[in-house]
Amino acid sequence: MAANSEVNSDSEHFPKEDSEDSELEHILGHHPPREGHPFAHHGYHKGDSEGEGHSRPHTPGTPTFLRPAAAPRGPGELEHESRHGAPRGHVDFSLLSPISPSRPKSPWGCYDPYESAEDQDKEYVGFATLPNQVHRKSVKKGFDFTLMVAGESGLGKSTLVNSLFLTDLYKDRKLLNAEERITQTVEITKHTVDIEEKGVKLKLTIVDTPGFGDAVNNTECWKSVADYIDQQFEQYFRDESGLNRKNIQDNRVHCCLYFISPFGHGLRPLDVEFMKALHEKVNIVPVLAKADTLTPTEVKRKKIKIREEIEQYGIKIYQFPDCDSDEDEDFKQQDQELKDCIPFAVIGSNTVVEAKGKRVRGRLYPWGIVEVENPAHCDFVKLRNMLVRTHMQDLKDVTRETHYENYRAHCIQSMTRMVVKERNRKKRNLEHLATWKALYLFQEWSIYVVMVLCIYFW
Ligand code: GDP
Repeated sequence: MAANSEVNSDSEHFPKEDSEDSELEHILGHHPPREGHPFAHHGYHKGDSEGEGHSRPHTPGTPTFLRPAAAPRGPGELEHESRHGAPRGHVDFSLLSPISPSRPKSPWGCYDPYESAEDQDKEYVGFATLPNQVHRKSVKKGFDFTLMVAGESGLGKSTLVNSLFLTDLYKDRKLLNAEERITQTVEITKHTVDIEEKGVKLKLTIVDTPGFGDAVNNTECWKSVADYIDQQFEQYFRDESGLNRKNIQDNRVHCCLYFISPFGHGLRPLDVEFMKALHEKVNIVPVLAKADTLTPTEVKRKKIKIREEIEQYGIKIYQFPDCDSDEDEDFKQQDQELKDCIPFAVIGSNTVVEAKGKRVRGRLYPWGIVEVENPAHCDFVKLRNMLVRTHMQDLKDVTRETHYENYRAHCIQSMTRMVVKERNRKKRNLEHLATWKALYLFQEWSIYVVMVLCIYFW
């Protein structure tokens, strides 16, 4: 009974959960978190599309983060080039000169922007060299990129990664037998390799998800992948909020290549579940695996079906930034072709075979050869160009400005909520204490009065 009355008096005199929420809102100044999962829904951020011609997913209920204009693209994107026979470990892509005649040459660090004859007589302050300074600094620092590959085992993930980066990242891989795979949970493995090309260093990290989709019951097998991505955000958030922010290790996942089986009829429930669970956390790029097992018509049909299902289930895969309106027509067309390519139909191979007198990376069948880097055979080159040459920086920018910012905003909201709750709890305790103190004083005073009265009448 006493306890009940205490609870009642609490609810009358002290702030309720509602007022905590309103206090939280007041502290945050905007956007109360949504009910349920904070990232359960999202739309497209208006500011992005209006200001810059980009459309980006944005999570309502969290602050808005604008994307800056798309990073300048490297010259010669989407060109097809052939390369093979590079030594393992140290990767030399030996790419052909990537400069397309239709694209302006990059001024970055390549030459003095004031060297032309007409500039000689003019007076300049010199800040046109700023891009050169940035270029030099970033080259010195080196680049990093974290790519995750996910999808059922046996779909060619390791083969494709090795083909993409001309390296052998899976030397120590241990393949499990069927019995072991029944009970296996999804593991997350990380392989890092330092590659260098023309003096530019790239620290490439591949995050693999062995065991994904292998068990008899695959319910929620995306969870460990989602947890891994969140852990990387959390680590970055801690490091960023710490004292030494100089050498922060950035392990955030910048892109997830999701492998779709070529043997199904479009997406499987597991694919839908995975992509829906992760699309707010990472840039998902869907790929149609082992495209050499399909005829060109089948590839075309499957791509359409998968795109329709992606739309139907509200999956937000990585959106390529829109072209600037002043881009030339060639570039715009290439960009559109890239967008129409989704999901990239890929073929992987780690062997070099001889086709029409040329040594190419491909798969040799009794009826012929499929060439990995032949655009008529698959979208491998388009995928590699997108990942490495044209959109690597954008993938990192979107990770930082959208996915990580959403995570950070959510963390700050939760932390503020906790602080408000704790403050209210302390306030309640203090008020309790004051009541008890008053009661105690009243009791003491009553005893004193009784004693005085007794003495008086006695
Ligand atoms: P993972 O388990 O997803 O990493 O798959 P692997 O890369 O280990 O490949 C599994 C098997 O598929 C191997 O025998 C590969 O040689 C083969 N494979 C890989 N890529 C392709 C491809 O593009 N087409 C075909 N037909 N087979 C492939």
